[in-house]
Amino acid sequence: MSKYPCLEIDLNKISYNVKKIKDICRDKGISTAFVTKVFCGDETIIKEIVNSGADTLGESRIDNFRRLKKLHFKKLLVRIPMISEVEEVVEYCDISLNSELKVIQALSREAENRSKKHSIILMVDLGDLREGVLPKDAIEIVKEILELKGIELLGIGTNLTCYGGVIPDENNMGRLLEIKNNIEESLNINIPLVSGGNSSSLYMVEGGNIPKGINHLRIGEGFILGRETAFGKDIDHLHKDVFTLKGEIIEIKEKPSIPEGKIGLDAFGNKPEFEDKGFMKRAIVALGKQDILLEGIYPRDKKIEILGASSDHLILNITSCGNKYSVGDIVEFDVNYGCLLSVMTSSYIEKRYIK
Ligand SMILES: *Cc1c(COP(=O)(O)O)cnc(C)c1O
Repeated sequence: MSKYPCLEIDLNKISYNVKKIKDICRDKGISTAFVTKVFCGDETIIKEIVNSGADTLGESRIDNFRRLKKLHFKKLLVRIPMISEVEEVVEYCDISLNSELKVIQALSREAENRSKKHSIILMVDLGDLREGVLPKDAIEIVKEILELKGIELLGIGTNLTCYGGVIPDENNMGRLLEIKNNIEESLNINIPLVSGGNSSSLYMVEGGNIPKGINHLRIGEGFILGRETAFGKDIDHLHKDVFTLKGEIIEIKEKPSIPEGKIGLDAFGNKPEFEDKGFMKRAIVALGKQDILLEGIYPRDKKIEILGASSDHLILNITSCGNKYSVGDIVEFDVNYGCLLSVMTSSYIEKRYIK
């Protein structure tokens, strides 16, 4: 018996996308960490990604790495660590992104206690205003890091287009390389890795204008949904339909397009507004805001219009679909990254793997 709602996950398509992204980057001398945080540590998906040749995976929650401990791949923590979790970071992660000396010192003490070294990538903020040290402070903090016996400085990196929407370009990537060169020259050290961002840097890889010297990227959405994220363009030849969200129709009726009676607040405390489009054929799908991000689902059937949702009911306008649908039928949706995150996190949505 099939259970709905469900998310169908095409493992072959994921595998194809991983290989393709790895190739595209490798052609430009760039190694890739595959950022899998959106999958909530789903073991079937993670195994497929590892078996497709991904040697480094990025997660933001240690819990996932703890559960995946037995699988062999390099574990990169992409959210800068809480000082309260340094023990687990050293135990379950091989590499972490960092920006706070106090935390890096704590990581070093923990690593020394275990007679090992923990690798870090020092994050530099190039204007997006999320994590990272300011460029002017980079050399000073590296000096301090070099004193720490438990830490290996694997590289420097930056994160863009996450908070401030800043797009990677020759300017800011060039600046990252300049900072790296300055550190190397003034402290007489070698910094192996320059991690030039996430899927928003892919357009430069494809366009061939990513500056030489950027030799590492952390890619999530790019291989997951087959698109770069600076301009939201599809990446050639990648699968964009790895995931299919499926929900079941529980009601179909002809109803007016504006509610009857005095309008107060909806279930989420907002005052709803409606446009009178006359009578329409409306379908209710058993899916809701508890499972999905409403702004992030797109019906595969382009004739369907999404009207809205409450916690457990998704309301569609199917007037243009003729008699195509009846109660009990399944409606299919594409999801964006934000919606995929809610769907993966919702225990009400069955995950179904196809291969
Ligand atoms: C999530 C994340 C990524 C991956 O971002 P995508 O846009 O999905 O490629 C890379 N780096 C860091 C620090 C992240 O938090």
